Amino acid sequence: MSDRGGASRAEVSNYEIVTHYFDEAVDRLGIADDLAAVIKTSYREVQVQIPIRLGDGKIHVFSGYRVQHNGARGPYKGGVRFHPEVDLDEVRALASLMTWKTAIAGVPFGGAKGGVNVPTDVCNTDELERVARSFIDKVEKLLGPNRDIPAPDVGTNAQTMAWMMDEYGKLHGHTPACVTGKPIALEGSFGREAATGRGLVYLYEHVADELGLKPENTRVAVQGYGNVGSWAARILQDMGCKLVAVSDVTGAIRSDAGIDAHKLVEHVLEARGVVGFEGSEQIPPDDLLGVECELFIPAALGGMIHKSNADRLRAKLVIEGANSPTTPAADQILADSGVHVIPDVMANAGGVIVSYFEWVQNLQHFRWDEDEVNERLRKIIQRAYREVSEKAEERKLPLRAAAYELGIERVLEAALTRGYVHNG
Ligand code: NAD
Repeated sequence: MSDRGGASRAEVSNYEIVTHYFDEAVDRLGIADDLAAVIKTSYREVQVQIPIRLGDGKIHVFSGYRVQHNGARGPYKGGVRFHPEVDLDEVRALASLMTWKTAIAGVPFGGAKGGVNVPTDVCNTDELERVARSFIDKVEKLLGPNRDIPAPDVGTNAQTMAWMMDEYGKLHGHTPACVTGKPIALEGSFGREAATGRGLVYLYEHVADELGLKPENTRVAVQGYGNVGSWAARILQDMGCKLVAVSDVTGAIRSDAGIDAHKLVEHVLEARGVVGFEGSEQIPPDDLLGVECELFIPAALGGMIHKSNADRLRAKLVIEGANSPTTPAADQILADSGVHVIPDVMANAGGVIVSYFEWVQNLQHFRWDEDEVNERLRKIIQRAYREVSEKAEERKLPLRAAAYELGIERVLEAALTRGYVHNG
């Protein structure tokens, strides 16, 4: 499976990937099947119809989804994805990943996810605004600062959140804490836009010594140059790393002399893709994994490191910005070749950590400055890494397996303590 000029993806779905890691962890922990079923399945899954008249004059009926996976630890929290391949299975998988992610990061939220199967690349701004508003109109009863708080994901951004907040406000009164990832002008948090990418960089910073890496000898390849990939690349470059290869849905480029991450952002805005960036050479998208580098950052979609390409990966360190980028078969290949993988479920938590800060600031009507946001993010994400790696050492497990165990144990403890499992 391949998206236009993008790299190939596995035939394994996001749901199969997340379920695989969950089932293995539950088995190792010896959790009884009936109890495991309670935390495996979603609390609520909603599908709504979103009919929109597009530029071709026809009404297109899109499907919108909101899955609330588990709320034992706090209000449901998770992004909304706009992408033509969104379906209930994918949203369900991403929602459960959020449950473990918020637990591992230790922020007081449950897990949720949303999505609309709209092709953003063929819609104009006005059409996307109507999709966002219609989605909120149809799911608003499930949402709210103490119930469920959406945020951006693939195909959505701060502008989308502004429309969603506005639509929710028409029905419930001005409620900035109903979504996070908003623009700064609308009570968004400083540092939120860059937070997921910055979180990846704080993890690089945390493990670099242990792996013998210094910024001046770290070459970086990034798959996906949207919010997460482009922010990680810019911050890594500013600390002295060299970006040597990048891909997106339009294709892939490389340059041994280095690609300027900041200028590439401007190029992508103008050219709508990374291809054609001055001084770079275009390569087949599937060759990105074979580029010599120390750090590889998947920051596109799920299943992009799979059993047919994992052995081509040249990096020493993989920090997963995307959700479910590595299939279980590929994970084993990377483990066998000694690649240090920092898994999605802890690595890309920077977004939800700063979303938590945004929610706290909105509830207090008080704004923190960017340094304070970034410092608190560093502390929380590095603490999560330490807690997961301690568990990994103690139980002789890879980081991903230890991370799932930690997340599951915390969710189960909360669920059992509040009595939620027995009382329904
Ligand atoms: P985005 O829409 O801003 O960027 C996605 C990028 O992936 C684009 O550059 C797109 O061209 C590229 N892409 C899509 N298909 C591709 C393919 N087949 N080959 C190569 N590139 C391809 O989305 P984002 O917010 O940066 O999210 C990226 C990933 O990070 C997703 O998996 C998302 O779930 C995850 N994530 C995002 C956040 C966040 O805060 N935005 C938080 C946690 C995890």
